[in-house]
Amino acid sequence: MRYVSTRGQAPSVGFVDAVLGGLAPDGGLYVPETWPQISAQEIAGFAERPYAEVAARVIGAFAGDEIAPADLLEMCQEAYSTFTHAAVVPLTQLQPGLFIAELFHGPSLAFKDVAMQILARLYDHLLGSQKRSQTILCATSGDTGGAAVEAFRGRRNARVVALFPEGRISEVQRRFMTTASEANVACVAVKGSFDDCQAIVKQAFQDQSLRQAVDLSGVNSINFARIAAQAVYYFTTATALGAPSRKVSFCVPSGNFGDAFAGYAAQRMGLPMGKILVATNANDILARTFETGRYARGKVCQTMSPAMDIQSASNFERLYFEGVNREATETARAFAAFADSGAIDVPPQAFAAMRELFRGVSVSEDDTARAMLRTLNETGELIDPHTAVAISALRRVNGIEGPVVVMSTAHPAKFPEAVAKACGVTPELPRGVATLASRPERFDRLPADAETIKAYVRAFAGA
Ligand SMILES: *Cc1c(COP(=O)(O)O)cnc(C)c1O
Repeated sequence: MRYVSTRGQAPSVGFVDAVLGGLAPDGGLYVPETWPQISAQEIAGFAERPYAEVAARVIGAFAGDEIAPADLLEMCQEAYSTFTHAAVVPLTQLQPGLFIAELFHGPSLAFKDVAMQILARLYDHLLGSQKRSQTILCATSGDTGGAAVEAFRGRRNARVVALFPEGRISEVQRRFMTTASEANVACVAVKGSFDDCQAIVKQAFQDQSLRQAVDLSGVNSINFARIAAQAVYYFTTATALGAPSRKVSFCVPSGNFGDAFAGYAAQRMGLPMGKILVATNANDILARTFETGRYARGKVCQTMSPAMDIQSASNFERLYFEGVNREATETARAFAAFADSGAIDVPPQAFAAMRELFRGVSVSEDDTARAMLRTLNETGELIDPHTAVAISALRRVNGIEGPVVVMSTAHPAKFPEAVAKACGVTPELPRGVATLASRPERFDRLPADAETIKAYVRAFAGA
Protein backbone atom coordinates (compact mmCIF):
# COMPACT_ATOMS: atom_id res chain seq x y z
CA MET A 1 0.00 0.00 0.00
CA ARG A 2 1.48 3.34 -1.11
CA TYR A 3 0.67 6.79 0.24
CA VAL A 4 0.59 9.95 -1.85
CA SER A 5 0.61 13.58 -0.76
CA THR A 6 -2.54 15.67 -1.32
CA ARG A 7 -0.25 18.32 -2.85
CA GLY A 8 1.47 16.01 -5.31
CA GLN A 9 5.00 17.35 -4.84
CA ALA A 10 6.36 14.58 -2.60
CA PRO A 11 7.30 11.05 -3.64
CA SER A 12 4.88 8.29 -2.68
CA VAL A 13 5.89 6.32 0.42
CA GLY A 14 4.89 3.12 2.19
CA PHE A 15 2.73 2.94 5.32
CA VAL A 16 5.70 2.98 7.69
CA ASP A 17 7.17 6.15 6.18
CA ALA A 18 3.76 7.82 6.02
CA VAL A 19 3.25 7.11 9.72
CA LEU A 20 6.73 8.08 10.89
CA GLY A 21 6.77 11.14 8.63
CA GLY A 22 3.42 12.61 9.68
CA LEU A 23 3.07 15.55 7.30
CA ALA A 24 4.39 15.04 3.76
CA PRO A 25 7.53 17.07 2.91
CA ASP A 26 5.57 19.26 0.45
CA GLY A 27 3.23 20.38 3.23
CA GLY A 28 0.44 18.06 2.08
CA LEU A 29 -1.21 15.17 3.88
CA TYR A 30 -0.68 11.52 3.06
CA VAL A 31 -3.61 9.52 1.73
CA PRO A 32 -3.64 5.92 0.52
CA GLU A 33 -3.14 5.62 -3.22
CA THR A 34 -6.31 3.51 -3.33
CA TRP A 35 -8.80 2.77 -0.56
CA PRO A 36 -8.46 -0.82 0.66
CA GLN A 37 -11.72 -2.79 0.49
CA ILE A 38 -13.38 -5.06 3.02
CA SER A 39 -16.26 -7.23 1.78
CA ALA A 40 -19.79 -6.92 3.17
CA GLN A 41 -19.56 -10.50 4.39
CA GLU A 42 -16.41 -9.84 6.37
CA ILE A 43 -17.81 -6.58 7.76
CA ALA A 44 -20.91 -8.46 8.98
CA GLY A 45 -18.60 -10.81 10.89
CA PHE A 46 -17.02 -7.91 12.82
CA ALA A 47 -20.09 -7.82 15.09
CA GLU A 48 -18.92 -11.01 16.80
CA ARG A 49 -15.24 -10.19 17.12
CA PRO A 50 -13.20 -8.53 19.90
CA TYR A 51 -12.36 -4.88 19.23
CA ALA A 52 -8.60 -5.53 19.01
CA GLU A 53 -9.12 -8.09 16.25
CA VAL A 54 -11.24 -5.72 14.17
CA ALA A 55 -8.61 -3.03 14.76
CA ALA A 56 -5.83 -5.32 13.54
CA ARG A 57 -7.87 -6.15 10.42
CA VAL A 58 -8.78 -2.54 9.55
CA ILE A 59 -5.38 -1.01 10.35
CA GLY A 60 -3.72 -3.99 8.66
CA ALA A 61 -5.60 -3.18 5.46
CA PHE A 62 -3.76 0.16 5.44
CA ALA A 63 -0.40 -1.27 6.51
CA GLY A 64 -0.41 -3.83 3.68
CA ASP A 65 2.60 -6.12 3.94
CA GLU A 66 4.74 -3.65 5.89
CA ILE A 67 3.81 -4.95 9.33
CA ALA A 68 3.50 -8.66 10.17
CA PRO A 69 -0.18 -9.40 10.99
CA ALA A 70 0.77 -11.22 14.20
CA ASP A 71 2.81 -8.22 15.41
CA LEU A 72 -0.02 -5.84 14.61
CA LEU A 73 -2.57 -8.00 16.42
CA GLU A 74 -0.32 -8.14 19.48
CA MET A 75 0.09 -4.35 19.46
CA CYS A 76 -3.68 -3.86 19.13
CA GLN A 77 -4.36 -6.27 21.98
CA GLU A 78 -1.90 -4.47 24.21
CA ALA A 79 -3.17 -1.01 23.19
CA TYR A 80 -6.83 -1.80 23.85
CA SER A 81 -6.15 -3.64 27.09
CA THR A 82 -5.38 -0.19 28.56
CA PHE A 83 -9.10 0.61 28.19
CA THR A 84 -11.23 0.04 31.26
CA HIS A 85 -14.28 -1.32 29.39
CA ALA A 86 -14.23 -4.82 27.93
CA ALA A 87 -15.99 -3.63 24.77
CA VAL A 88 -13.31 -0.88 24.39
CA VAL A 89 -15.88 1.40 22.66
CA PRO A 90 -19.27 0.46 24.17
CA LEU A 91 -22.60 1.75 22.89
CA THR A 92 -25.17 3.27 25.22
CA GLN A 93 -28.72 3.84 24.06
CA LEU A 94 -30.27 7.23 24.83
CA GLN A 95 -33.61 6.80 23.09
CA PRO A 96 -35.05 4.71 20.26
CA GLY A 97 -32.63 4.92 17.36
CA LEU A 98 -30.12 7.10 19.20
CA PHE A 99 -26.91 5.69 20.63
CA ILE A 100 -23.69 7.11 21.98
CA ALA A 101 -20.36 5.43 21.30
CA GLU A 102 -18.28 5.90 24.44
CA LEU A 103 -14.82 6.62 23.10
CA PHE A 104 -13.47 7.75 26.47
CA HIS A 105 -12.55 4.59 28.38
CA GLY A 106 -8.81 4.95 27.68
CA PRO A 107 -6.09 6.26 30.02
CA SER A 108 -6.66 10.01 29.38
CA LEU A 109 -10.48 9.73 29.21
CA ALA A 110 -10.77 11.12 25.68
CA PHE A 111 -11.26 9.58 22.27
CA LYS A 112 -7.71 10.50 21.25
CA ASP A 113 -6.55 7.48 23.29
CA VAL A 114 -8.18 5.13 20.80
CA ALA A 115 -5.68 6.11 18.11
CA MET A 116 -2.77 7.17 20.28
CA GLN A 117 -2.43 3.93 22.24
CA ILE A 118 -1.91 1.96 19.05
CA LEU A 119 0.12 4.71 17.39
CA ALA A 120 2.69 4.79 20.22
CA ARG A 121 3.14 1.04 19.98
CA LEU A 122 3.49 1.23 16.22
CA TYR A 123 6.15 3.92 16.59
CA ASP A 124 8.14 2.05 19.19
CA HIS A 125 7.99 -1.12 17.11
CA LEU A 126 8.94 0.53 13.81
CA LEU A 127 11.63 2.80 15.25
CA GLY A 128 13.16 -0.05 17.24
CA SER A 129 13.50 -2.17 14.12
CA GLN A 130 15.09 0.77 12.27
CA LYS A 131 17.35 1.60 15.28
CA ARG A 132 16.05 5.18 15.24
CA SER A 133 14.78 7.52 17.90
CA GLN A 134 12.33 10.29 17.04
CA THR A 135 11.02 13.52 18.49
CA ILE A 136 7.28 13.84 18.37
CA LEU A 137 6.04 17.39 18.30
CA CYS A 138 2.36 17.92 18.81
CA ALA A 139 0.02 20.84 19.19
CA THR A 140 -2.96 20.16 21.38
CA SER A 141 -6.27 21.87 21.85
CA GLY A 142 -6.51 19.88 25.03
CA ASP A 143 -6.86 16.15 24.54
CA THR A 144 -4.22 15.15 21.98
CA GLY A 145 -1.40 16.15 24.31
CA GLY A 146 -2.73 14.13 27.22
CA ALA A 147 -3.35 11.12 25.04
CA ALA A 148 0.11 11.42 23.43
CA VAL A 149 1.87 11.80 26.77
CA GLU A 150 -0.06 8.84 28.22
CA ALA A 151 0.78 6.70 25.19
CA PHE A 152 4.45 7.69 24.74
CA ARG A 153 5.66 8.22 28.32
CA GLY A 154 8.60 5.97 29.03
CA ARG A 155 8.78 4.51 25.49
CA ARG A 156 12.31 3.80 24.45
CA ASN A 157 12.52 5.10 20.91
CA ALA A 158 10.52 8.32 21.01
CA ARG A 159 10.29 11.52 23.02
CA VAL A 160 7.31 13.90 23.03
CA VAL A 161 7.01 17.68 23.09
CA ALA A 162 3.40 18.78 23.63
CA LEU A 163 2.43 22.42 22.93
CA PHE A 164 -0.79 23.68 24.45
CA PRO A 165 -2.44 27.14 24.46
CA GLU A 166 -1.92 28.55 27.94
CA GLY A 167 -5.12 29.00 29.92
CA ARG A 168 -7.33 27.60 27.17
CA ILE A 169 -7.60 24.00 28.27
CA SER A 170 -9.16 22.50 31.38
CA GLU A 171 -7.13 21.69 34.47
CA VAL A 172 -7.79 17.98 34.08
CA GLN A 173 -6.65 18.14 30.45
CA ARG A 174 -3.49 19.97 31.47
CA ARG A 175 -2.72 17.57 34.28
CA PHE A 176 -2.86 14.55 32.00
CA MET A 177 0.17 16.06 30.25
CA THR A 178 2.04 17.88 32.96
CA THR A 179 2.03 15.20 35.66
CA ALA A 180 4.05 12.72 33.62
CA SER A 181 7.44 12.43 35.31
CA GLU A 182 9.24 10.50 32.56
CA ALA A 183 12.28 12.20 31.04
CA ASN A 184 11.07 11.62 27.46
CA VAL A 185 8.13 14.04 27.94
CA ALA A 186 8.21 17.85 27.68
CA CYS A 187 5.13 20.10 27.93
CA VAL A 188 5.00 23.74 26.83
CA ALA A 189 2.33 26.31 27.65
CA VAL A 190 2.28 28.63 24.62
CA LYS A 191 1.02 32.18 24.98
CA GLY A 192 -1.47 31.99 22.12
CA SER A 193 -4.35 29.97 20.66
CA PHE A 194 -4.43 26.38 19.47
CA ASP A 195 -4.18 27.64 15.89
CA ASP A 196 -0.93 29.40 16.86
CA CYS A 197 0.39 26.13 18.29
CA GLN A 198 -0.62 24.26 15.16
CA ALA A 199 1.00 26.88 12.91
CA ILE A 200 4.25 26.56 14.87
CA VAL A 201 4.20 22.79 14.43
CA LYS A 202 3.70 23.27 10.69
CA GLN A 203 6.64 25.66 10.54
CA ALA A 204 8.84 23.28 12.50
CA PHE A 205 8.02 20.55 9.99
CA GLN A 206 8.96 22.81 7.10
CA ASP A 207 12.38 23.45 8.65
CA GLN A 208 14.44 20.70 7.03
CA SER A 209 17.44 21.23 9.27
CA LEU A 210 15.37 20.86 12.44
CA ARG A 211 13.48 17.95 10.96
CA GLN A 212 16.69 16.05 10.42
CA ALA A 213 18.49 17.12 13.59
CA VAL A 214 15.77 15.81 15.90
CA ASP A 215 14.10 13.26 13.54
CA LEU A 216 10.83 15.11 13.86
CA SER A 217 7.50 13.38 13.65
CA GLY A 218 3.87 14.28 14.26
CA VAL A 219 1.00 12.50 15.92
CA ASN A 220 -1.67 15.13 15.32
CA SER A 221 -4.71 13.94 13.48
CA ILE A 222 -2.87 14.64 10.23
CA ASN A 223 -1.05 11.36 10.87
CA PHE A 224 -2.70 8.77 8.68
CA ALA A 225 -2.32 6.00 11.28
CA ARG A 226 -4.73 7.94 13.47
CA ILE A 227 -7.31 8.02 10.72
CA ALA A 228 -6.85 4.27 10.21
CA ALA A 229 -7.25 3.58 13.93
CA GLN A 230 -10.33 5.79 14.16
CA ALA A 231 -12.03 4.11 11.23
CA VAL A 232 -12.20 0.97 13.40
CA TYR A 233 -15.01 2.13 15.72
CA TYR A 234 -17.20 3.11 12.79
CA PHE A 235 -17.08 -0.55 11.81
CA THR A 236 -17.61 -1.94 15.32
CA THR A 237 -20.49 0.38 16.24
CA ALA A 238 -22.23 0.11 12.86
CA THR A 239 -22.07 -3.68 12.82
CA ALA A 240 -23.37 -3.83 16.40
CA LEU A 241 -26.45 -1.98 15.07
CA GLY A 242 -27.02 -4.15 12.03
CA ALA A 243 -24.60 -2.93 9.36
CA PRO A 244 -23.83 -3.72 6.65
CA SER A 245 -27.42 -4.76 5.92
CA ARG A 246 -28.65 -1.58 7.61
CA LYS A 247 -27.23 1.92 7.09
CA VAL A 248 -26.12 3.64 10.26
CA SER A 249 -25.55 7.41 10.52
CA PHE A 250 -23.08 9.21 12.73
CA CYS A 251 -22.90 12.53 14.49
CA VAL A 252 -19.37 13.66 15.28
CA PRO A 253 -18.26 16.56 17.48
CA SER A 254 -15.53 18.01 15.28
CA GLY A 255 -12.53 20.30 15.31
CA ASN A 256 -9.64 19.20 13.16
CA PHE A 257 -11.90 16.83 11.18
CA GLY A 258 -9.85 13.71 11.92
CA ASP A 259 -12.64 11.80 13.60
CA ALA A 260 -15.30 12.57 10.97
CA PHE A 261 -12.84 11.91 8.13
CA ALA A 262 -12.20 8.46 9.62
CA GLY A 263 -15.90 7.82 9.01
CA TYR A 264 -15.39 8.77 5.38
CA ALA A 265 -12.47 6.30 5.27
CA ALA A 266 -14.68 3.53 6.69
CA GLN A 267 -17.29 4.24 4.04
CA ARG A 268 -14.71 4.17 1.26
CA MET A 269 -13.53 0.79 2.58
CA GLY A 270 -17.01 -0.63 2.09
CA LEU A 271 -19.08 0.20 5.17
CA PRO A 272 -22.54 1.35 4.02
CA MET A 273 -23.46 4.57 5.78
CA GLY A 274 -26.31 7.05 6.08
CA LYS A 275 -24.94 10.50 6.83
CA ILE A 276 -22.17 11.95 8.94
CA LEU A 277 -23.31 15.05 10.75
CA VAL A 278 -20.32 17.26 11.56
CA ALA A 279 -21.14 19.12 14.78
CA THR A 280 -19.12 22.14 15.85
CA ASN A 281 -19.28 24.66 18.66
CA ALA A 282 -19.16 28.40 17.85
CA ASN A 283 -15.87 27.72 16.01
CA ASP A 284 -17.91 26.75 13.03
CA ILE A 285 -15.56 26.59 10.05
CA LEU A 286 -16.59 23.02 9.23
CA ALA A 287 -20.31 23.57 9.81
CA ARG A 288 -20.21 26.57 7.49
CA THR A 289 -18.23 24.71 4.88
CA PHE A 290 -20.67 21.81 4.66
CA GLU A 291 -23.61 24.19 4.46
CA THR A 292 -22.24 26.87 2.14
CA GLY A 293 -19.31 25.39 0.22
CA ARG A 294 -16.97 28.13 1.41
CA TYR A 295 -14.07 27.05 3.64
CA ALA A 296 -13.21 30.24 5.48
CA ARG A 297 -11.34 30.73 8.70
CA GLY A 298 -13.12 32.64 11.47
CA LYS A 299 -11.97 34.10 14.71
CA VAL A 300 -11.17 31.48 17.32
CA CYS A 301 -13.33 31.82 20.40
CA GLN A 302 -13.18 30.01 23.69
CA THR A 303 -16.00 27.62 24.48
CA MET A 304 -16.77 24.95 27.06
CA SER A 305 -15.76 22.32 24.47
CA PRO A 306 -12.15 23.50 24.05
CA ALA A 307 -10.92 20.48 22.09
CA MET A 308 -12.93 21.93 19.20
CA ASP A 309 -11.84 25.57 19.50
CA ILE A 310 -10.26 25.48 16.06
CA GLN A 311 -10.88 27.53 12.93
CA SER A 312 -8.83 25.62 10.39
CA ALA A 313 -9.48 21.90 10.14
CA SER A 314 -6.32 20.23 8.81
CA ASN A 315 -7.95 17.01 7.68
CA PHE A 316 -10.39 18.87 5.47
CA GLU A 317 -7.59 18.96 2.91
CA ARG A 318 -7.93 15.19 2.55
CA LEU A 319 -11.63 15.44 1.79
CA TYR A 320 -11.04 18.32 -0.60
CA PHE A 321 -8.48 16.21 -2.46
CA GLU A 322 -11.06 13.44 -2.85
CA GLY A 323 -13.73 15.96 -3.81
CA VAL A 324 -11.68 17.32 -6.71
CA ASN A 325 -11.05 13.76 -7.92
CA ARG A 326 -7.56 13.67 -6.44
CA GLU A 327 -6.24 16.61 -8.47
CA ALA A 328 -3.12 17.35 -6.42
CA THR A 329 -2.25 20.53 -8.31
CA GLU A 330 -5.68 21.96 -7.59
CA THR A 331 -5.47 20.89 -3.94
CA ALA A 332 -2.03 22.49 -3.55
CA ARG A 333 -3.32 25.69 -5.13
CA ALA A 334 -6.40 25.79 -2.91
CA PHE A 335 -4.56 25.24 0.36
CA ALA A 336 -1.79 27.68 -0.51
CA ALA A 337 -4.59 30.20 -1.15
CA PHE A 338 -6.22 29.25 2.13
CA ALA A 339 -2.96 29.76 4.02
CA ASP A 340 -2.68 33.14 2.34
CA SER A 341 -6.15 34.58 2.50
CA GLY A 342 -7.94 32.33 4.99
CA ALA A 343 -10.75 31.41 2.60
CA ILE A 344 -11.41 29.20 -0.40
CA ASP A 345 -14.50 28.11 -2.31
CA VAL A 346 -15.07 24.40 -2.73
CA PRO A 347 -15.73 23.77 -6.44
CA PRO A 348 -19.44 22.96 -7.00
CA GLN A 349 -18.91 19.33 -8.05
CA ALA A 350 -16.66 18.65 -5.09
CA PHE A 351 -19.20 20.28 -2.80
CA ALA A 352 -22.00 18.14 -4.18
CA ALA A 353 -19.90 15.03 -3.61
CA MET A 354 -19.21 16.07 0.00
CA ARG A 355 -22.90 16.69 0.64
CA GLU A 356 -23.71 13.10 -0.25
CA LEU A 357 -22.19 12.07 3.05
CA PHE A 358 -21.70 15.18 5.20
CA ARG A 359 -23.89 17.79 6.85
CA GLY A 360 -22.70 20.51 9.24
CA VAL A 361 -24.30 22.19 12.25
CA SER A 362 -22.86 24.71 14.69
CA VAL A 363 -24.14 24.81 18.28
CA SER A 364 -24.17 27.71 20.74
CA GLU A 365 -22.94 27.55 24.33
CA ASP A 366 -26.50 27.82 25.67
CA ASP A 367 -27.70 24.93 23.55
CA THR A 368 -24.69 22.87 24.61
CA ALA A 369 -25.52 23.40 28.27
CA ARG A 370 -29.20 22.62 27.62
CA ALA A 371 -28.28 19.38 25.88
CA MET A 372 -26.26 18.24 28.91
CA LEU A 373 -29.15 18.95 31.28
CA ARG A 374 -31.80 17.47 29.04
CA THR A 375 -29.79 14.29 28.47
CA LEU A 376 -29.33 13.88 32.23
CA ASN A 377 -33.02 14.47 32.89
CA GLU A 378 -34.27 12.19 30.15
CA THR A 379 -31.77 9.34 30.37
CA GLY A 380 -29.79 9.66 33.60
CA GLU A 381 -26.56 9.91 31.59
CA LEU A 382 -24.00 12.64 32.27
CA ILE A 383 -22.36 13.70 29.03
CA ASP A 384 -19.42 16.01 28.45
CA PRO A 385 -19.73 19.33 26.55
CA HIS A 386 -18.25 17.93 23.30
CA THR A 387 -20.78 15.12 23.23
CA ALA A 388 -23.48 17.66 24.10
CA VAL A 389 -22.58 19.72 21.02
CA ALA A 390 -23.26 16.64 18.91
CA ILE A 391 -26.53 15.76 20.67
CA SER A 392 -27.75 19.30 20.23
CA ALA A 393 -26.72 19.42 16.56
CA LEU A 394 -28.69 16.26 15.90
CA ARG A 395 -31.89 17.80 17.20
CA ARG A 396 -31.59 20.54 14.63
CA VAL A 397 -31.41 18.53 11.43
CA ASN A 398 -33.90 16.42 9.57
CA GLY A 399 -33.43 13.56 7.22
CA ILE A 400 -30.63 11.68 8.96
CA GLU A 401 -31.32 8.04 8.04
CA GLY A 402 -31.37 4.98 10.24
CA PRO A 403 -30.04 4.58 13.74
CA VAL A 404 -27.65 7.35 14.70
CA VAL A 405 -24.45 6.91 16.67
CA VAL A 406 -23.15 10.02 18.43
CA MET A 407 -19.43 9.92 18.99
CA SER A 408 -18.97 10.65 22.70
CA THR A 409 -15.44 11.96 22.68
CA ALA A 410 -14.66 12.74 26.31
CA HIS A 411 -15.55 11.54 29.79
CA PRO A 412 -17.67 14.16 31.60
CA ALA A 413 -15.15 14.26 34.46
CA LYS A 414 -12.66 15.83 32.08
CA PHE A 415 -14.81 18.99 32.09
CA PRO A 416 -16.22 19.07 35.62
CA GLU A 417 -16.90 22.82 35.80
CA ALA A 418 -18.93 22.96 32.60
CA VAL A 419 -20.90 19.84 33.48
CA ALA A 420 -21.59 21.04 37.03
CA LYS A 421 -22.70 24.43 35.80
CA ALA A 422 -25.12 22.94 33.28
CA CYS A 423 -26.43 20.03 35.34
CA GLY A 424 -25.78 20.83 38.99
CA VAL A 425 -23.91 17.55 39.31
CA THR A 426 -20.12 17.23 39.50
CA PRO A 427 -18.94 14.15 37.59
CA GLU A 428 -16.44 11.97 39.43
CA LEU A 429 -13.13 10.94 37.95
CA PRO A 430 -12.97 7.17 37.43
CA ARG A 431 -10.99 5.33 40.11
CA GLY A 432 -7.86 4.80 38.04
CA VAL A 433 -7.12 8.52 37.69
CA ALA A 434 -8.35 9.80 41.05
CA THR A 435 -4.86 10.91 42.15
CA LEU A 436 -4.45 13.23 39.15
CA ALA A 437 -5.24 16.40 41.11
CA SER A 438 -2.52 15.84 43.69
CA ARG A 439 0.39 14.85 41.45
CA PRO A 440 3.12 17.50 40.90
CA GLU A 441 3.09 19.32 37.54
CA ARG A 442 6.04 20.06 35.27
CA PHE A 443 5.91 22.34 32.20
CA ASP A 444 7.59 25.34 30.55
CA ARG A 445 6.05 28.61 29.32
CA LEU A 446 7.04 30.07 25.95
CA PRO A 447 5.80 32.81 23.61
CA ALA A 448 3.93 31.85 20.42
CA ASP A 449 7.10 32.22 18.39
CA ALA A 450 8.25 29.49 16.03
CA GLU A 451 11.99 30.21 16.39
CA THR A 452 11.87 30.09 20.20
CA ILE A 453 9.98 26.84 20.18
CA LYS A 454 12.19 25.26 17.54
CA ALA A 455 15.25 26.06 19.68
CA TYR A 456 13.51 24.51 22.67
CA VAL A 457 12.79 21.31 20.72
CA ARG A 458 16.41 21.08 19.61
CA ALA A 459 17.66 21.49 23.15
CA PHE A 460 15.21 18.91 24.52
CA ALA A 461 16.26 16.39 21.87
CA GLY A 462 19.90 17.07 22.67
CA ALA A 463 20.56 18.05 19.04
C1 LIG B 1 -10.04 16.16 19.49
C2 LIG B 1 -11.41 16.16 20.03
C3 LIG B 1 -12.51 16.40 19.23
C4 LIG B 1 -12.39 16.78 17.77
O1 LIG B 1 -11.91 15.73 16.98
P1 LIG B 1 -11.27 16.07 15.54
O2 LIG B 1 -10.77 14.78 15.07
O3 LIG B 1 -10.19 17.07 15.79
O4 LIG B 1 -12.37 16.63 14.72
C5 LIG B 1 -13.77 16.33 19.80
N1 LIG B 1 -13.93 16.07 21.10
C6 LIG B 1 -12.90 15.84 21.92
C7 LIG B 1 -13.14 15.59 23.36
C8 LIG B 1 -11.60 15.85 21.40
O5 LIG B 1 -10.56 15.63 22.22
